[in-house]
Amino acid sequence: MISAQDFKKEVFRCAEEIVVKPKEVHLRNMNTKWASCSNKGRLSFSSSLLNEAPDFRTKVIVHELLHIKYPTHGKMFKTLFISYLRRQGIDCSLKDFNLSHR
Ligand SMILES: [Zn+2]
Repeated sequence: MISAQDFKKEVFRCAEEIVVKPKEVHLRNMNTKWASCSNKGRLSFSSSLLNEAPDFRTKVIVHELLHIKYPTHGKMFKTLFISYLRRQGIDCSLKDFNLSHR
């Protein structure tokens, strides 16, 4: 389990690497999804992510950050998602594109 503060640090560290600027990052209780992204760049993450494995957390974070630039799971979205995770040494599969949030 990590703290909310460390989680947000991780989000901003990823954001720098991907070169996106989230306006706000929130953690809150979400029953049906892991995260969401408003069209204004406001990100919300489920607080239960704090208890998830680091690799999974990273996937959700990267996924959401990429939505700031790419609203849909298009080609660029997938390419950047996969290459970011590979650089971190994290395996990813097609189901990672369906991390529910919409
Ligand atoms: Zn998505």
